[in-house]
Amino acid sequence: MARYTGPSCKLCRREGQKLFLKGERCYSTKCAMEKRAYAPGQHGQGRKKASNYGLQLREKQKAKRFYGLQETQFRNYFEKAAAKPGITGDNLLIMLETRLDNTVFRMGFASSRKEARQLVTHGHFTVNGKKVDIPSQLVKAGDVIAVKERSQSSPKFKEMKEMTISTPEWVTINTEKLEGKVLSVPTRAMIDTPVAEHLIVELYSK
Ligand code: SF4
Repeated sequence: MARYTGPSCKLCRREGQKLFLKGERCYSTKCAMEKRAYAPGQHGQGRKKASNYGLQLREKQKAKRFYGLQETQFRNYFEKAAAKPGITGDNLLIMLETRLDNTVFRMGFASSRKEARQLVTHGHFTVNGKKVDIPSQLVKAGDVIAVKERSQSSPKFKEMKEMTISTPEWVTINTEKLEGKVLSVPTRAMIDTPVAEHLIVELYSK
């Protein structure tokens, strides 16, 4: 399936929740969810109560959109999560969370996951000193993610040196060195993604 190229805000309105897809705008009064917090389209304000299947589907769509993945990629993550020991829903979210693009976003190097993916594909980072450009690479405890030396002089990263960034507890960031560290693989409790993952597991287990 082709990547969605329509307006990002429509996706949030469809899910009835902020998915934070547009960086700083999401935290401002310009956010579409502040003005029109209902589904897009002619019947957006008069939708019926969703069925069980509808709820499961919406939850899967929400998670997929939150992390900016396509259906096949998302399904592959689910298959891998189900094959691992432990709780499938937890495994799924932990894998999504430890993608390199998401980690770069969580460390504050980018204002959205979309921007993080672009920065990674353009080769602006190293992991443990090695150049990387694959957003889906999974990080592990102890990994050090740094802005490549040649990219450090770009206005975006220079500006970041002056900033104070708050990160989730499983990562840390040294803005002066433009370097972040993965302290541990996150547990489900450390992941604030607003998703009821058990509904996704139910959907795919049919
Ligand atoms: Fe979603 Fe951000 Fe658009 Fe708000 S501004 S609707 S959070 S993408």
